[in-house]
Amino acid sequence: MNYVSTRGKAPVLGFEETMLSGLARDGGLYVPETVPQMSAGDIRALHGLPYEEVAFRVMRPFVADAFDDDTFGSLIENAYRGFGHVARAPLVQLAPGHFLAELFHGPTLAFKDFAMQLIGQMFEEALKRRGDRVTIVGATSGDTGSAAIEAFRGLDAVDVFILYPHGRVSEVQRRQMTTPVEENVHAIALDGHFDDCQARLKDMFNHFEFRDEVRLAGVNSINWGRVLAQVVYYFSSAVALGAPERSVSFTVPTGNFGDIFAGYIAKRMGLPIDKLVVATNQNDILDRCLRSGAYETAGVAPSISPSMDIQVSSNFERALFDAYGRDGAAVAQLMDELKAGGFHVSQGALEKLREDFTSGCASEEETLATIARAHQTMGELLCPHSAVGVKVAEEHLDPAVPMVTLATAHPAKFPDAVERATGIRPPLPERMADLFERPERMTRAENDLGALETLIKDRIPL
Ligand SMILES: *Cc1c(COP(=O)(O)O)cnc(C)c1O
Repeated sequence: MNYVSTRGKAPVLGFEETMLSGLARDGGLYVPETVPQMSAGDIRALHGLPYEEVAFRVMRPFVADAFDDDTFGSLIENAYRGFGHVARAPLVQLAPGHFLAELFHGPTLAFKDFAMQLIGQMFEEALKRRGDRVTIVGATSGDTGSAAIEAFRGLDAVDVFILYPHGRVSEVQRRQMTTPVEENVHAIALDGHFDDCQARLKDMFNHFEFRDEVRLAGVNSINWGRVLAQVVYYFSSAVALGAPERSVSFTVPTGNFGDIFAGYIAKRMGLPIDKLVVATNQNDILDRCLRSGAYETAGVAPSISPSMDIQVSSNFERALFDAYGRDGAAVAQLMDELKAGGFHVSQGALEKLREDFTSGCASEEETLATIARAHQTMGELLCPHSAVGVKVAEEHLDPAVPMVTLATAHPAKFPDAVERATGIRPPLPERMADLFERPERMTRAENDLGALETLIKDRIPL
């Protein structure tokens, strides 16, 4: 199983190297050279299986010889053991033909735990086997960082540095990053917004001397291993609603395009997915792009769904790569134009994108109104990200095709917005009820590549 870069110039790698390196050396993102297929019979055979078994069958061909069957099976078991719901990704019904996939039962209460917990297990196993050590640096708008710190805390072969935008993450998110006591995890509060964090991270990956010296590894949603782990719940949800006999649509609260790209991979594998609906908040570059073809950055406006406050949506590059007929040079050119402010998707590529993706956006008022209405009429407390999804999904319902909206975080992770909309302050689950009493530990840093690299080198054993 080989992985190739979306910019066509980096070496072709196997699964393990792809996962350990994160970003390709030509600045691109790794994608599978060919997508493994699941037949209708393979999909039918998933009916009634535990989540872990579905995960094994869906991911096995992508992982190939990186892990043997027994090892891979036990990594999956360990990854999902800490979840607070035995179904892992349970479905609840919101309305006729509209379902919610609750992806927030992991240890940090957001869907990122699905991928990060598994990546933590896979990194540890692969590095142990190689006698190797890596430095993981991640950029976060809140949820990736908490999920990464939770997944990697205390591991021997890994130091983790998480860059988050100072003052722009929720208090629960921040505390999940700053309260773990393990010495190998480092929360860095950067003066800037999320796109600055992401840009400095990319700079580090493109600074090869630093990259090689600290053995830099990435676990942002550009890491192929993360996308892969997220493919699984598209299968488990669709099968529960009647696939492969019935098609299913999904609406995905979207920021960096990682989660919805996983849905696209599920579709390419053979899962009968009708629509993949991109739901954005007021930071709507993806919605505008799918409507007009113009991918133009417009500055980030902080919102009540901060994990989607993104203007440069990294994983969109993977979708563009396919839409441009896997032409790495064409993608590299678009990414150069993006540095100067934006690009126009060609008419042919836009038509390709629209075969799989459609989109919508929700304003702040619409998001709050949806939280209130879902509480009153559906008995469901939604986090603001999930509410963006529900609002946009309702504009795309089709009586013939069930719609699944992904609920990406637990309402207690964003209690201020939920309280504003409903008057109810959702409590944290019992297992993390003391979060607000634990002491915090973080480092403030300026938005400067050299300063960040020095900080990291000072903290790791070189
Ligand atoms: C990360 C995140 C998103 C956006 O997911 P992408 O894969 O970046 O599109 C949406 N909601 C929540 C709660 C998140 O943490």
